[in-house]
Amino acid sequence: MDNRLICSQCGYIGIPNEINKGSGGVELILWLFFIIPGLIYSVWRRSSKPRVCPSCHSQSLVPIASPVGRDLVAKQGKTVDQAKAEAQKMIDVKNKKDRRLLLILCILVVGIIFLKIFFITN
Ligand SMILES: [Zn+2]
Repeated sequence: MDNRLICSQCGYIGIPNEINKGSGGVELILWLFFIIPGLIYSVWRRSSKPRVCPSCHSQSLVPIASPVGRDLVAKQGKTVDQAKAEAQKMIDVKNKKDRRLLLILCILVVGIIFLKIFFITN
């Protein structure tokens, strides 16, 4: 599915934010006091993630290439290709951040393993 979207409310062009349904506070309380309902609530919160506009939090995002998307892009005086390129830049930045985060996690895990080995052998 093409992730390059335009918001029909504010005109934002780019990629959506995915949010969890429900409340993190309720989830925490359920986990602290009732394990099974907490588990069910956690699964439900992550079962389908609504995609919202990062700018106005609206859920009315449409693909740039769709007929409605094309109209919205034209209203901003841009071509569909320009809008797609704009959105693609954001995807590239996000992928770069994800790779950096993965690298940091790997370094942390390797560091923890080395520390464990060091403290076990000494
Ligand atoms: Zn918006």
